[in-house]
This record gives sequence, C-alpha cells and structure tokens, in this order.
Amino acid sequence: MNVKFVKLALSHEDHIVRTEACEGCYSLKALLTEVREPAVVLIDGLNPENSKSMRVTFKAIYELRRSSVFYAAPIFLAKSMDNLNIFVDGIGSTPEEVLPTATKILARMDGLSIEKNAVSDDLRVLTYLYCRGDDQVLLPVAMACSPWIYEYPAAYLIGGFAGTNLQTAIGIGLFADKDLVNAIIKSSAEWLITLAAQGVLIGRELVDRIRLCTYCGTGNLNYIDFCPLCGSIDFHKRKMIHCFTCSHVAPEENFKNGMMFVCPRCNTNLRHIGSDYDRPMESYSCDSCGERFIDPEVKAVCMRCRHKSPTDELVVRQLYTYSLTPKGKRAVQVGNVDLEFSLFDSNRNVMPQYFYQITDWLIQMKARYSEEDFSLLCIKIEGFEGQGTTTGIAQFQKMVNELAVRIRELVRLTDITTSTGSNTFWVLLPRTNLSGGEILASRVAKLAELISGDNGEHIAMQTKCFSIPEEYASRGQVAEMLLKEYEAALANKK
Ligand SMILES: [Zn+2]
Ligand SMILES: [Zn+2]
Ligand SMILES: [Zn+2]
Repeated sequence: MNVKFVKLALSHEDHIVRTEACEGCYSLKALLTEVREPAVVLIDGLNPENSKSMRVTFKAIYELRRSSVFYAAPIFLAKSMDNLNIFVDGIGSTPEEVLPTATKILARMDGLSIEKNAVSDDLRVLTYLYCRGDDQVLLPVAMACSPWIYEYPAAYLIGGFAGTNLQTAIGIGLFADKDLVNAIIKSSAEWLITLAAQGVLIGRELVDRIRLCTYCGTGNLNYIDFCPLCGSIDFHKRKMIHCFTCSHVAPEENFKNGMMFVCPRCNTNLRHIGSDYDRPMESYSCDSCGERFIDPEVKAVCMRCRHKSPTDELVVRQLYTYSLTPKGKRAVQVGNVDLEFSLFDSNRNVMPQYFYQITDWLIQMKARYSEEDFSLLCIKIEGFEGQGTTTGIAQFQKMVNELAVRIRELVRLTDITTSTGSNTFWVLLPRTNLSGGEILASRVAKLAELISGDNGEHIAMQTKCFSIPEEYASRGQVAEMLLKEYEAALANKK
C-alpha cells in the first residue's frame, strides 16, 4: 500500500525535508488546503513545557478532526504532550515509528468513501471507529474542563464539542443566572448515547456513573446541606443535652457550670446520664432560626445554572465504552446511518451462528446419505449509483423493499435464511443440488434487473450458489470458515 505522510511543523525552527514519500507543511491552513486526501499526519515542532504550544497543538488536532478529509486519518505527535496524548493515535518522531499503527488505519480506510461519509458527524465518528479495527472502543475520560465531567476524546473532537466548551466557558465562569442558560448543551457522552439508541453503537463496559443537573444537564454540582426548617446553611453540629426534670433540650455548652452540668431552665444538677439527662437524636442546631434537627437536608446546586435539585431527582448517566454494532459497520460501508434493510422477515431469518450449525449438520447428513444434497445461495447487495443523495437513498430503500418481496416469493418456507452483515444474505436450500440452486440464483439475479429506479438505475447485486463437497464432512465444523471464504471470493470478483 502506498502510504502518504504529511509532517506538520508547528514551529518554524523545524526544517522539513520534502521527499516523495513525505510532504511537509508549516501551518495547519497550508495542510488543509494542499492535502486533499487522507494521509498520515505527524505533528512536530512541539514544546510540552509551553502552554501556548499546547494550545496550538490542540487546535491543530481539533481542526484536523473537524475537517472532511482528516476526521478519521491517523494522527500522531512527535513528542508526548501530557493531556493531549489521548486525542491522537500515538507518539512517534519518525515515519518508521508510527508506520505499524498508521498502516492498519489507512488499510481500513481504503475500501470506504471518506468524502461521502463526511456528510454527517454521526457517520464521521462511526467511520473513525471503524478504521481503528474491531477491538477498538470509544473510552470515556474524566475531563476537568468539561461541564459534563466525562468526554469521549475522539467524539469530543469530531462532534465539535471542544468548540462549544470554549464558548460556554465564559458563561460557566460567571455562574450565569438560570434564565440565561436555558438551552441544554449536549456533550459527547449524550451524543454517543443517542447513537447507541439508534443501534449503531453498543455499550460494552460500564466505566462510571455520574449525576447531572435536572435543569441544564451539566455535571458540576455542589452538594449543599441546609436547615430543613428555614433553608439556612448556617447550622452546626453540637453535642446536645436533654434535661429529664423539665425536658429542656439545648447544646451542651449551655449546661456547663464549672465541672458540672446544670440545667439553665430549672437549675437541676444533672449528674448521671440515663437518670438525670440523656443525649437526644437531634444533633444539629440552626444559627438562623434556632431549630434542632437530626439530619440536614441535602440538595445539589448546579454551578452552571444555580438550579437546586433534590439528590434523588438528579439525572443519572451510565458511562460505557462503546464499539460498533454490525448495523454501525454497515452504515460506514454504505455511507448512510439510516440505510438499514433486510431481505427476509426477522422471524425466518436466523442468527449466523445457528445457520452455520445447521449447515455443518447437513454436511454430515450428505456424507452419510448421498441423496441428502443441499446448496447455499448467497445474495450480496452492492449498492446503487444514486445512494449518496437523500432522494437516492429513499429510492434505493423503495427498490430494496420491492426486491425483498419478490425474493421472498421465490424462497420456499422450508428454506432458512441469515444475514452476515455488509448487506450479505444467505439462503440454505435443503434437498436442492447445485444445478437446482443455480436456477434459483439466476432467477433472483433477474429480479434486480426487473426493478429499476426513476432514471432506470438498478440495484447492483451479486448472486451465487455454492455446494459444499462431501469430503469436508470429516473435518468437523467447517461451515463458518467456508461461508466466509465464499463471501470473500464474491467480493474479489468485482
Ligand atoms: Zn444546571
Ligand atoms: Zn431542666
Ligand atoms: Zn433554620
């Protein structure tokens, strides 16, 4: 693979040697105008001791992640920059050091339309995650500068939340009046929760739980206790005494008389606890209203809007790590979050794992009783020319629905189906040999030609029938491996 490197030198003292393999830019602006396709970006000219250098570096990373070309690209820092390290793919001063990680990311980007997926922030963050491999998760990080306490670094940049924070920082600094802050500003965490609700992300590991203001949704809260009677915060915990003779209750110091306790109301000498006096449950007394109470009331005061919330009413947020779902991956591959379709109704479509099991069982049956033949039909929907546009998507969806109805008419009730993602569907045809399966495959292929869009476009689709040779029966569970091989062969045929 041809890896393109761009070195961004943020300090002019750095001399960039421009080579065939490595371009160099002295400013972010130059980089964004000159480089029009994703490349490995290595940011150099850094000074971790200098706060201005930190700010300039952060701004560069932020703007790269906000750009339509570099939102998912591999970005590295030449030097470790403390708090900024979480925002990049790694640290390394030479192309050789960053190459192993960078190549993996670029290879995953290769089959995608980075330009098309730049249409929405939703697709951008999904694409970013997709390009970093199946094991990659979005991890929440506690961030002191965020009014939401936690942010997901990649989403924080890609979704433009760092910009929002800068704007709201002044408002937060002033502890603005409640009426001035009536808009709920979303955080990267809120954003990812929405994407999980859409089924494109899935929460993996629970990292923490936070509580947010019921009025504005931010999390900088001060838990304040106050007198339950008058609301004053001016109260103290005191040792109290309860006189048995006259029932007077007051702080201990009011009873002190030299070494003795004497009741200030009835003048009784209180010698023995339990017979002359005891210590009541109420141990707080308010300096504003004089009321005594057992426990003060506690409320959470929002530092941003000053709203007071009872603690049991605060909004609870669970913070998970997130990874892509098969639907999320498909959204990245086809360039649309909403593009979800199925050829087969869900009650007849089984999970791939179950499909593989039945296939393995049928291979055994076939080896034992040669008349028990079966075959597998693979249908792969590859797309549609106009699907990049909104009207195109709507039309594509309509055509796929029509196609699905017709395919279902062809597929018998005894046939079992599954979808293995990436718009690939499998039909298991029991008691059908290869030539029988091939007839069905060609009929299905014809359906795609019969259905056309407003401008005569067709859905690009591949169909192929497979028959698993008997000799695989001695090799145990082979269905999953074989089906994946067949799928890969179909993908390479293009
Ligand atoms: Zn608030
Ligand atoms: Zn008394
Ligand atoms: Zn009070």
